[in-house]
Amino acid sequence: MQNRWNEFDASQFDNDLLLRVYSSRLLGQEPDLVLHGGGNTSVKTTVLNIFGEPEELLYVKGSGWDLATIETGGFAPVKLGILQRLVTLPQLNDSEMVRQQRIAMTQPSAPNPSVEAILHAIIPFKYVDHTHADAVVTVTNTQTGETRIRELYGQRVLIVPYVMPGFILAKTVYEMTQSIDWSQLEGIILLNHGVFTFGETAKNSYERMIQLVTEAEHYLFQQGAVVPLPSAPPPRPGNLIALAHLRHTISQTQGLPMIANLDTSATALQFANLPCVADLATRGPLTPDHVLRTKRVPLVITAVEGEREGNLEEVIKTAVHQYIQTYCNYFARHTDGHLTPLNPSPCWAVWPGHGLVSFGTTVKDANIVSDINDHTIRAIQQAEALGGWQALPEKDIFDMEYWELEQAKLHTSPTPPTFQGKIALVTGAASGIGRACVEALHKQGAAVVALDIHPSITTLFKPPTVFGQVCDVTHRQQLLHAVDSAVRQFGGLDIVISNAGTFPPSETIAETNPTTWETSLAVNLSSHQSLLQSCIPYLKLGMDPAIVIIGSKNVPAPGPGVSAYSVAKAGLTQLARVAALELAKFGIRVNVIHPNAVFDTAIWTPEVLEKRATHYGMTVADYKTNNLLKVEITSKDVATLACVMAGPVFAKTTGVQVAIDGGNERVI
Ligand code: ZN
Repeated sequence: MQNRWNEFDASQFDNDLLLRVYSSRLLGQEPDLVLHGGGNTSVKTTVLNIFGEPEELLYVKGSGWDLATIETGGFAPVKLGILQRLVTLPQLNDSEMVRQQRIAMTQPSAPNPSVEAILHAIIPFKYVDHTHADAVVTVTNTQTGETRIRELYGQRVLIVPYVMPGFILAKTVYEMTQSIDWSQLEGIILLNHGVFTFGETAKNSYERMIQLVTEAEHYLFQQGAVVPLPSAPPPRPGNLIALAHLRHTISQTQGLPMIANLDTSATALQFANLPCVADLATRGPLTPDHVLRTKRVPLVITAVEGEREGNLEEVIKTAVHQYIQTYCNYFARHTDGHLTPLNPSPCWAVWPGHGLVSFGTTVKDANIVSDINDHTIRAIQQAEALGGWQALPEKDIFDMEYWELEQAKLHTSPTPPTFQGKIALVTGAASGIGRACVEALHKQGAAVVALDIHPSITTLFKPPTVFGQVCDVTHRQQLLHAVDSAVRQFGGLDIVISNAGTFPPSETIAETNPTTWETSLAVNLSSHQSLLQSCIPYLKLGMDPAIVIIGSKNVPAPGPGVSAYSVAKAGLTQLARVAALELAKFGIRVNVIHPNAVFDTAIWTPEVLEKRATHYGMTVADYKTNNLLKVEITSKDVATLACVMAGPVFAKTTGVQVAIDGGNERVI
């Protein structure tokens, strides 16, 4: 474990809280210490209150903050004396504890103090650091964990058997330390949970953490626990359609569209292919707090010899069905009759031959589950080498999963955005209508794959929720590859906005250049057919799948001089109508938008605009609002309509053509 303390950097911070921020971030940078909001830190300091009297406060990490990015505002200031008094109560339920901690704050707008605030308060040192360090937890998650920890650290640490975090943990440590000499201790090891270190300076507390964890890492190495896995063959062919099947089944059982993160890294595949994986992966999580993200155990999809596409659906359905049954039994075994059961679907899957799959309602959540799994599978194998991976009994995990503080959150969940968990693909996405569609879909919660021939597409949008990829849509292989990569990225496909287009030069039929004609047909028509062909197998497994085709006002009301464009767009509209007929039986909706005079797109250069205006004998300004309503149509307007068509408003509509043109007599 690298000691990241830098004397010069630290010297820039001249007060207790700023130094607390500095060293908290050092801990947060190291995923082997804290993962996604895990761990917490504090500092005790004296401030003057409104009456000018000194007051002792504990600045403790607020919930919802991450150590890697924490700022001073992420620490909640709580009256130290009150926290130290709370621990003397014979009992206190955690909801009341959270309320009392909030009452004791001196800054009402601060976040809720960590549930481990009382424990921080009773440790008699200025700085306190707490992590869920992988190496330490790995050693404790074995059959002889406690003995090994004692052998490793001797009397330098206090060893605390596992109890629930919150008041019970603070009370346990309080009682264990009544007659202890704190100056002899460098830290506290919470079995199956993590490490506390402390010191009079930020540096001392931080360096003790690094020291204790480094010793655990060396111990694992010396004990031969750090061993490479046997190599595994690459993922099976047909992997992506299998993934889309799995994501569909999980989304159905969740009752929500889900993102599926497929991990086919060597480590993931090697773990998934272990002969004993079904046993190893289902003994429990690395630390109990992970249960909130991962559930107690993953879905294990048993490999079937000669697994074929035909029976794949059955294999997945059976595995998920069994998982749900087992989860419901687990809930029934432990509930007190008053708890609200969580959705019984798995949060991740171990899939021999395919890898590991993590699920989430957002890309961020699925990636967090994936990160946790990455750390968990390493710990499992190291603990196995130490004589046997052993997680906490299921009752302890259940108590964390159904903690009163977590149950309370169930009733305060906000309404998710329209496209949360949905996966969309947009072509022609680097500018104009395509770009506006990507932005609108993303804003409404979708994960989007944005394709464009222009290289700027790879940097135009922010990963990981929008994934930009260069693709020449007239190149069938490139298109197939791009659609596959969308599925690989997010697990499936629900929405396709077929938008890529080109506006050829104005030429009468008599003077049309053959290249103009062929290019227009290739981009404006044939590429859409290739796209549909590539997407249909995945859309069949989509959640309320929808295709939106960007047509043109030229279809119902063509003009002279643009036959190459009008004919291609008319063909495209006919393609969409046939698609609506063919795909309805799979629940896939296909609708067409006919925009007119959208001038903020790449095809409308000032020259083209000028030429068309002149052609109709108008000024550019008049030409732009040349419609019944006298309004200008923007890419954003078209994107809004495309989102409505892809969303629940059009859930029962297919095969329609909707104009967005400000009203046109010839169309009406
Ligand atoms: Zn903890």
